This record gives sequence, C-alpha cells and structure tokens, in this order.
Amino acid sequence: MPALLAIATRVEKLTAICPICGEDAHCTQRLFNDEPAHYHDPIVLPGGIAEGNEPRCLLHHKVRRD
Ligand SMILES: [Zn+2]
Repeated sequence: MPALLAIATRVEKLTAICPICGEDAHCTQRLFNDEPAHYHDPIVLPGGIAEGNEPRCLLHHKVRRD
C-alpha cells in the first residue's frame, strides 16, 4: 500500500458514518455485548457470543483499559 500511495496522482479516502453523531467515521469500534470491547478482550471469540464492529468517529471511538 505505501508503494501505491507513493505513485498515486490522487488519493481519495472514504469514510463511513458514525451511527451516534452522523459525522465521518474514521475508526472501527469493536463491540462486545453492544459495549466497546476491552483492550485485552480476545480478538477471536467462541460462537454464540454477541460481538460486532461498527464505524465510529474519533469522538465516539472508545478503547476500554479499566
Ligand atoms: Zn460520532
């Protein structure tokens, strides 16, 4: 990717929409039971556990470290 960016004459960065405020979302929020996942939560979870991802703006993207 860096090589492509170096020779590109134009770079267009696409964003999603933050479902909380409607602003451009530059981050992906990992969710665990509809709450932001903890920093140390496992990346791969066994089936049946509610998890997902959604786009978030920088203001609403949370990384729980407590
Ligand atoms: Zn937002």
